[in-house]
Amino acid sequence: MSEQTLWAGAVMCVGFVLVLFVGSIVLPGLERLGYKQPNGRRKPYKLSGMTLFFMAHIAVGVGTFAAGWSLAPVVERFWGLFAAANVVAFVVSAALFVSGRRPGRLKAPAGEGTRLPRWLKDLWFGAELNPTFFGVDVKMFMYHPSLIGANLIVVGFAYAQYERHGFITPQMWCFVAFWFGYLFTHYVKEEFMLSTWDVISENFGLMLVWGDLVYVPFFYSLPGWWLVDQVQPFSTIEWFSLSAFYLVSLWVFREANWQKEAYKQDKRAHIWGKPAEAVGGRLLVSGWWGLGRKINYTGEIGVYLAFALTTGFDSFIPYLLPLSLVILLVQRAARDDKKCRNKYGALWREYCERVRFRMLPFVY
Ligand code: NDP
Repeated sequence: MSEQTLWAGAVMCVGFVLVLFVGSIVLPGLERLGYKQPNGRRKPYKLSGMTLFFMAHIAVGVGTFAAGWSLAPVVERFWGLFAAANVVAFVVSAALFVSGRRPGRLKAPAGEGTRLPRWLKDLWFGAELNPTFFGVDVKMFMYHPSLIGANLIVVGFAYAQYERHGFITPQMWCFVAFWFGYLFTHYVKEEFMLSTWDVISENFGLMLVWGDLVYVPFFYSLPGWWLVDQVQPFSTIEWFSLSAFYLVSLWVFREANWQKEAYKQDKRAHIWGKPAEAVGGRLLVSGWWGLGRKINYTGEIGVYLAFALTTGFDSFIPYLLPLSLVILLVQRAARDDKKCRNKYGALWREYCERVRFRMLPFVY
């Protein structure tokens, strides 16, 4: 990799993160309170994700049509960007480590059961639960360079295809549209993130920072490499059936999460037109939650499978993306099952008897 590629990557990566960070400070967002922290307080958040998501799209659209910008350099300078993102992830984690180890910082128990020295646990799992910088919650902020960055890389593949071949294939349109739908439905209810395990219970350290800045944008855009030079277009029936599969998966994934969130906010919430039903008044069995205890994970795996399917069957490598999510989420489901068994005791057993399957009704 040439020094020039490395510098270009560094400028693009650092510039992108800084612009988003300044945007998080100055742009409007929804004001929400987080869930109770271990000190009993609820942290206030400004959720500016949707604003940033749209500003990024508007900037790219206006830049393209008014000034002839291209996102193809994101693909051409990919390895420079990748190297720079790794460096930024390590620098951010080192800063979080130093700041989080100061006395009086709020921490979640992390890495219990591992015999690593404390400093290494603090570096890897994080030394502080919800670090704040210039009034911005850093853990919630990092989702933006992660997701919007992945989205821009995906769009960059479409630009690169257009510049190399003079057209964009239907499967590339699908890939771009699938990502847009996935992120739009994420940001439309950004407050849902405040209820996730990562935000409530995990410190913020290298593990999550690297996941946000490197793993998600560079690995989740993987199918783009197979799409960019695949010039044989999908037939109408191929892209249509793939889109239908994607939409059903996205629907299950998002609606299941939104149903649980609606129930947690208001026990009298209506789900699929009926009052929510719950075991012991605590564990939801209405809607998707009556079909599988982790049906939200299944929906998300379906979405990632749809990303990979846009490439056809030329290579198994794009399928490493849904496969990695299967491994991550199956393991997460087992961890969460254990947590819930401890928390809910007999109620959880009753719930498991009522909802027999975890991720795939009648199979698993
Ligand atoms: P989950 O959806 O797994 O929620 C688990 C928690 O929800 C449980 O600990 C319990 O918490 C509560 N709960 C479980 N079942 C019920 C029920 N029937 N009724 C009421 N409450 C219930 O949350 P996660 O934070 O793990 O994941 C959120 C989403 O993020 C998922 O859809 C997942 O697919 C996605 N995700 C995506 C990743 C990616 O890389 N793309 C990585 C990780 C997650 P409580 O103690 O509060 O009751």
